[in-house]
Amino acid sequence: MRTDGADHAALREDVRRWLAQNVDPQWRARMTGATQQAFVSFQKSWFRNLAGAGFAVPHWPTQWGGGGRSLGEQAVIYEEFARAGAPRLTLQFVSLYHTAMTLLEWGSEAQKQRHLPAILNGELWCQGFSEPDAGSDLASLRTRAQREGERYIVNGQKIWSTLGQCADFCLLLARTDPQAPKHRGITFFLLDLKSKGVDIRPIKQITGDEEFCEIFLTDVEIPVENIVGSENGGWQVAQTTLAAERGLTILELSERMRVALDQTIAEAARADGAFEDDELRRAIVDVHIRLEVLRALVRKMMADAGAGRETPGAPSIVKLHYARVARQFTDLGVRLAGLEGQLLEPILLGGGYETGNWMCDYFDSYQYNIAGGSNEIQRNIVSERVLGMPREKSA
Ligand SMILES: Cc1cc2nc3c(=O)[nH]c(=O)nc-3n(C[C@H](O)[C@H](O)[C@H](O)COP(=O)(O)OP(=O)(O)OC[C@H]3O[C@@H](n4cnc5c(N)ncnc54)[C@H](O)[C@@H]3O)c2cc1C
Repeated sequence: MRTDGADHAALREDVRRWLAQNVDPQWRARMTGATQQAFVSFQKSWFRNLAGAGFAVPHWPTQWGGGGRSLGEQAVIYEEFARAGAPRLTLQFVSLYHTAMTLLEWGSEAQKQRHLPAILNGELWCQGFSEPDAGSDLASLRTRAQREGERYIVNGQKIWSTLGQCADFCLLLARTDPQAPKHRGITFFLLDLKSKGVDIRPIKQITGDEEFCEIFLTDVEIPVENIVGSENGGWQVAQTTLAAERGLTILELSERMRVALDQTIAEAARADGAFEDDELRRAIVDVHIRLEVLRALVRKMMADAGAGRETPGAPSIVKLHYARVARQFTDLGVRLAGLEGQLLEPILLGGGYETGNWMCDYFDSYQYNIAGGSNEIQRNIVSERVLGMPREKSA
């Protein structure tokens, strides 16, 4: 997938011009150590701005208000946003990718009509999949939904729902047939978080941030029309949701990393005796090479998927590679910044490898070993589905 052709030049110019006029140069200062309330209102206003300009959902079809952009065009937009150091849309992430991709593939016409325009208007979603005893082994989930006439009564607990405290709706997986084999007794629901019996409790992290929530469900009613796909067919629907975050997110983050790496090296070069340490020089070259490999891998995976040539295991390989590069890159940032880089300063919210707060970025990089399926699970997938090794005994 190339992004330097003449056909992309006009788009690149438009995006650059818009960014030059719309990115507030002070946004990092305003969001460093900001309260969650300030973060939410900043993200909402940035989203409105992007939606108005057609840059919030370049990946959606035009029929639903999206840009209908090709992969190459989306990559151009990510490259320019990274270059301009623009804020990322972190609050709307689940709404724009997970929810939209799930509804576009599996939603009823009424569900699409109800939610896709609302998302463009600011409706926020979270994902309620994981439970205290069901993470890697998601199919063991125990939240129970029992049908009573035209509604389901739901009881159970979800955990690690990103920014659930800000959301209006939740993508919920619940067990509807406890007798069926575990993958075949799960249903995918759209849950209105204002429903009676929903209790959302933010989880306080060591950084002071509250990025995740527990969601407790007690006799919560969900109407039958809020099922996505079929009753007990939720596992397949959930695969679409889980796949939604892989390609585009890594494409965006790898562009952010590439720009930040150049900036970091340029800054380090200004110091006396810069790059005299051979080991450090080797580390920089190593990160650069791995990052270029990542960019090539993710672009190839997306171009193949777009052309209907999905390679088994490719998303797992890309994710494993990404998790490693993110850790090496932020580790390099800590080292280049010297002792100062080890200070834990207030977090910048809505950033992405340009925070200058390397210690936080380094800690944060560990999330990619876990989120969206841990490294060990990705390796299991590669061993079983790509290399044809025997399946795990417990699976
Ligand atoms: C940043 C972030 C955001 C998240 N956002 C959401 C969200 O919005 N909604 C949501 O529902 N969930 C979310 N999660 C939760 C995430 O999906 C789970 O953390 C993940 O699936 C792992 O589950 P677990 O935490 O229960 O760990 P466990 O499954 O208990 O795993 C613990 C350890 O055991 C290893 N392990 C487990 N099984 C195997 C195996 N078969 N073979 C080898 N090793 C194994 C794992 O790799 C891991 O190292 C988020 C997590 C993170 C980090």
